Amino acid sequence: MENRKLGKVWLVGAGPSDPGLFTLKGKTVLEQAEVVVFDNLVSGSILAMIPREAKKIDVGKISGSHPVPQNEINQILVEEAMNGKRVVRLKGGDPFLFGRGGEELEEICKHNIPFEIVPGVTSAISVPAYHGIPVTHRDFCSSVHIITGHTKNLERADIDFPALVKSGGTLVFLMGVASLPVICRELIDAGMDPAMPAAILERGTTAHQRRVVSDIGNLAEEAEKAGIQAPAIIVVGKVCSLAEAFHWAEDRPLGKMKIMVTRPKDRSSDLTAKLQELGAEVVEVPTIETERILENETLDEALENIGDYQWAAFTSPFGVKAFFRRLAELKIDIRKLAGLKFAAIGSATQKAIEEKGILVDLVPETYDGKALGEALARRMLEEEENSDDRPIVLIPRAKIGSEELIRPLEEAELLYEDLPVYETAEAPYDGINWYDES
Ligand code: SAH
Repeated sequence: MENRKLGKVWLVGAGPSDPGLFTLKGKTVLEQAEVVVFDNLVSGSILAMIPREAKKIDVGKISGSHPVPQNEINQILVEEAMNGKRVVRLKGGDPFLFGRGGEELEEICKHNIPFEIVPGVTSAISVPAYHGIPVTHRDFCSSVHIITGHTKNLERADIDFPALVKSGGTLVFLMGVASLPVICRELIDAGMDPAMPAAILERGTTAHQRRVVSDIGNLAEEAEKAGIQAPAIIVVGKVCSLAEAFHWAEDRPLGKMKIMVTRPKDRSSDLTAKLQELGAEVVEVPTIETERILENETLDEALENIGDYQWAAFTSPFGVKAFFRRLAELKIDIRKLAGLKFAAIGSATQKAIEEKGILVDLVPETYDGKALGEALARRMLEEEENSDDRPIVLIPRAKIGSEELIRPLEEAELLYEDLPVYETAEAPYDGINWYDES
């Protein structure tokens, strides 16, 4: 009998768009995926969490004019899992709320493929929240109803509008942009007061979120005037009137900004976190990456003879990392660095050195190469005057490093060794369209 390892499928909800609303479990599962099958509603910030080596299958892509048909998606999931892969099926919002998660699961069960469901934050509740609309409020309603607006014959009894009106609850319609005029008309025909507050909320939880708040008598016309497009959700109920007092997301300092962070992936997180704290929508699109130079005889030689140097000057945390990593690989005891003084170009590099348990001897007042070179030159000249030996500085840094750092040392005729330990290269394009409509 064939003994093939069976894979597993995780049906994962990605939330409405803001990566902060993606669940911890979803992120953990995604980071371990070998195959990721995703569709249109999953935001670039979340797609950025997919491991680079993972196979990415975009089934929301419009090829011709249709996205990949459901039966083909089911087939992809089954095939990849049967090949032993860890497959993540990533969907906008929650996978079981108008996400066709149930249909995919039927197919997965038919083939006895193991699976897990990771629920997501649904747009039906979170998008109103990002507009200051609580979907229930004790003063206004005692239920909330989530309804698809994407029914072929909306007028023909697919939706029981009189029952919805009678319930008095908040009504949330998904996929309803095209049928907004029909929805409003049906509600009025079923007896709803045309003055009932209503809202349409476009691209919620992103930097581009927009809302039109009106009443069901006028919402369709006003949405049309504003040019509202999918994805958007429609909320009907008195709670909509609270948006005026409770709106908040777009009022944050960077609430309307979408910012691309192009730093190498391993160095973008601090900046991303700061921007997000101020409300920005951040997409990490690394344009460069840094790689350690592996076969590096000059570095090995310098480390073996580290006692010959009086200074080591670093211009980036990556240089610090490469230096200490090689030291460990060569099994050189850190105590061999005892006589060495350390200089850092700025606070991040200083921190990287201090994390190794070494206090930094020199950081220039201005954090750049020129200032570092000048400060080093001053200190080394002083030392030269007070000693018979000429000090040497080792500079482990990028292959193409700034001349500005070297120039003051040259001018002072000091001894230095400019030592490339890493290279900067263009980051490979990973096939995902980050830029979407905006
Ligand atoms: N499973 C998803 C819904 C899928 S149906 C969920 O739980 O959120 C797709 C519809 O969801 C869209 O037509 C739109 O009505 C709504 N939607 C999803 N994300 C949205 C967003 N960021 N802003 C506004 N509407 C959104």
